[in-house]
Amino acid sequence: MKVAVVGTGYVGLVAGACFAESGNDVVCVDKDEAKVRTLKRGKMPIYEPGLEELVRRNRQEGRLTFTTMLPKAVRDSTIIFIAVGTPQGEDGSADLRHVLGVASDIAKAMDGYKVIVDKSTVPVGTSERVREVIRRGTTHPFSVVSNPEFLKQGAAIDDFMKPDRVVIGAEDARAQEIMLELYSPFTRTGAPIMVMDCASAELSKYAANAMLASRISFMNEIANVCEVVGADVDHVRRAIGADRRIGTAFLFPGVGYGGSCFPKDVQAMIRFASEKSYQFKILEAVETVNKAQKTRLFTKIKKHFGTLKGKTVAIWGLAFKPRTDDMREAPSIPLIEALIGAGVTVQAYDPEAVKMARGIFGSKITYAASNYEALKGADCLAIVTEWNEFRRPDLNRMRALMRSPVIFDGRNIFTTDEMKQCGFTYYSIGRD
Ligand code: NAD
Repeated sequence: MKVAVVGTGYVGLVAGACFAESGNDVVCVDKDEAKVRTLKRGKMPIYEPGLEELVRRNRQEGRLTFTTMLPKAVRDSTIIFIAVGTPQGEDGSADLRHVLGVASDIAKAMDGYKVIVDKSTVPVGTSERVREVIRRGTTHPFSVVSNPEFLKQGAAIDDFMKPDRVVIGAEDARAQEIMLELYSPFTRTGAPIMVMDCASAELSKYAANAMLASRISFMNEIANVCEVVGADVDHVRRAIGADRRIGTAFLFPGVGYGGSCFPKDVQAMIRFASEKSYQFKILEAVETVNKAQKTRLFTKIKKHFGTLKGKTVAIWGLAFKPRTDDMREAPSIPLIEALIGAGVTVQAYDPEAVKMARGIFGSKITYAASNYEALKGADCLAIVTEWNEFRRPDLNRMRALMRSPVIFDGRNIFTTDEMKQCGFTYYSIGRD
C-alpha cells in the first residue's frame, strides 16, 4: 500500500518505519528541513532503540523515503497519517493548530480518494473538525479515520510491531477495509483490531493515559503514606500487585510522571470534559499529586543538608524515562532548577539525553561523560531516571569518588539493606 506519514517525530517516524517494514511504500513528511536532511543522511533525530537499523534497512530496500514536500507525498499515497504534535495550549487544552493545518494542506493537494488518518492524540470531535477542513478544501472523495497510537517511547518498535490492540475509529466501510488490511501484519499474533466510532477511538487514548497517570499518582501517594506511617512500599506494591484484579504493572512509585504525553493528555482531558460542564475531579487530583511528587526529592535533599549553598549534587538520569533521550516534562528539570536556585553545583549524567539537556540548561550545569564521573567530589547523588546501567554499580568506587556517601534514590533502584551495608546514607521513595 502507498502510505504517507505527516510528522516525523517519535510516533510518525516509528509508524512510518514499521509500515515500511511490513512491505508498504512509505513517505515520511516533516516541515522541519534539518530533521529531514538528517534522516536522508541515514542519521536519527531521536534516540529510540532499534530505530536506526529499521530505518536503514527500509531505506536501502527503497520502501521508506523522507521529504518536506507534502503535496507530492499526498498525491503518491492512498493512506495519509497525521502524526504531528498536539502540544498543550496556554489554557491546558490540546493545541490542534498543527493537525488542522496539515489537514488543510492535504485537502489542497488531493487528486483522488484518500484515507486521512489521525494518529495524533486529539480531543473528541477532532475527526469531525478534520473532516470539515478537508471538505472545504477539496471536491475529491475521502474518509477520515481516528487511529490513536499507544506505543511507549523506549519500546516503541516492539509496541508498534506487536501491539496489545489496534484502535480504529472509522465510520465508512471502505476506510475500515483499508485500515484492516494495513494493520493485518501487526495483529497476526492475535491482538485485536477494535473498530469503533471516531469519538470512542479518540477518547480511548485519553482514557488509557489518564488511567496510567492515575495509577502512578495513586502509588506515589501510597509511598508517601508509607513514609509517614513507617511501612515499606515495596512490600505493599507486591502485596497488592498479586491481586489479579490489580496486576503488577505500573505500581512503581517515583518522582512523578513526565514525558510528552501524560502531563498534557491529563490536562487536555480535564479541559475537554470541563468544556462539556463535567468536572473530572480524579484527574485534577492526579495532576496535583504529580506536581507535588516532582518536588519530593529536592525536599528530602534540603531536609538532609539544611543549607544547600555551595554543595555539589550528582544527578543520574535526565530523560523522563529510560531508553529515550526525551526530556519533555522530565522530573529532572524542576529538580535541577530548584538545586541551581539553592546555589548547588549540579553534575549530571544521562546515557542519551545530554544533548537535550544542553538545550535546556546550557552551561548552568556540568555534563559528565559517565555515571562515575558525575560523582567526583559530590556531596550526594540523586537518581532521577532508572536506566538499567545504574542498577549494579561498583558501590565502593562510588563511595571513594563522593565527598560524602549520601544517595537520594527517586526510583528505588537499590535495596535499603544493601545501601546500609555499604555505608551509604540512603533515602528512597516510600521506604524511609
Ligand atoms: P514530536 O514532537 O516528536 O513530532 C511531531 C513532528 O511533527 C515534528 O517533527 C514536527 O516538525 C512535525 N510537524 C509539525 N507540524 C508539521 C506540519 N505542518 N507538517 C509536517 N510536519 C509537522 O511528537 P510525537 O511525540 O511524535 O507525538 C505526535 C503525536 O502523537 C502527539 O499528538 C502525541 O500526543 C501522540 N503520541 C505520542 C506518543 C509518544 O510516546 N511520543 C505516544 C502516543 C501518541
